[in-house]
Amino acid sequence: MEKGSFPWVIIAIGVVAYAAWGILGLILAALGMAALYGRSIRTHPRIRHTGWGSCKGTGEVRSRLFRWTFHKCPKCQSGRLIRYGAGHWGTQPIQAEYKRGRRARKRAKDEKRWRLSCGGLGAAHMTG
Ligand SMILES: [Zn+2]
Repeated sequence: MEKGSFPWVIIAIGVVAYAAWGILGLILAALGMAALYGRSIRTHPRIRHTGWGSCKGTGEVRSRLFRWTFHKCPKCQSGRLIRYGAGHWGTQPIQAEYKRGRRARKRAKDEKRWRLSCGGLGAAHMTG
């Protein structure tokens, strides 16, 4: 899901369920959503890095002065991220990748080389 494109259909289903069956309908709708969400984080575990202060999915942070230059975006993996939900409740491999990515980015930041590293996780391991 891209930020700014909230799935309003979820709200609509909740309202309709509540109108039809009251609180029980709302609970059932919520359970249905949870099940769909659980499936979604397995089938679509990744998102583009978008939103305020992001690289807009490019993986590049441009210089304000020299517009053709950039450094690697420190907050994502070449413009891609693993969803929060997938990183916490997804499949084991995606959770492992999520943790590895977060650790690698944190270490690159601590070592003040996040602007330089360009090979992502691989480079982080080689230089570390
Ligand atoms: Zn980014």
